[in-house]
Amino acid sequence: MDEIKLVSFDVEGTLVTPDFSYSIWFEAIPQRYAERNGIDFEQARKIVEEEYQKVGDQRLEWYDIKYWFGKFGLGVPNLAMKRCQGRVCYYPEVRDVLSSLSGRYKLIVASGSPREFLRHLLRDIEPYFAEVFSSISDYKQLKTSDFYLKVCQAMEIQPEQVVHVGDNWQFDFVAPKEVGIHAFHLDRREKTNHQDSLMSLAQLETHLLG
Ligand SMILES: [Mg+2]
Repeated sequence: MDEIKLVSFDVEGTLVTPDFSYSIWFEAIPQRYAERNGIDFEQARKIVEEEYQKVGDQRLEWYDIKYWFGKFGLGVPNLAMKRCQGRVCYYPEVRDVLSSLSGRYKLIVASGSPREFLRHLLRDIEPYFAEVFSSISDYKQLKTSDFYLKVCQAMEIQPEQVVHVGDNWQFDFVAPKEVGIHAFHLDRREKTNHQDSLMSLAQLETHLLG
């Protein structure tokens, strides 16, 4: 791993637990929807979840908080997101790993979350990163191999000099590997024997720093 110059991180499920997003999608939005429409929370949650499923996670709207607030007639999302700020939670090893890797490598974020989310999700760790890329907000696409190429171009670096880590098999492992990035799949739930799989970011640190 001598040639590695840059380490790229996914955000949700990798640096940050799903709690903040969960509180937006499954608590704040149904709560507001219930208030607006004079129905109870459980009813609202069922309706809202059905609408999410109709769109599905392969379409860009799925990730677009403004789209959903607009669709449900809930105004703008800013205040609701601010109220959920306390739910942002980093995995226990994150700060130590970022702090130790930042001495040796340039660190960036390559996320599928929109900027509205990243602003909150990264609030306490943003200084570690030289750049933050959002595939949705910056390039209007999911994390495809093309997205990773554009990130490398923007950073003026060869894919072979980049390590990316994230918890989604397709978006964080298959796609970056297609363009020659060294990718690691993070699976926090399972002990795995796959040589490119990690159970925590501490293992990435071991891979890189030995
Ligand atoms: Mg993720």
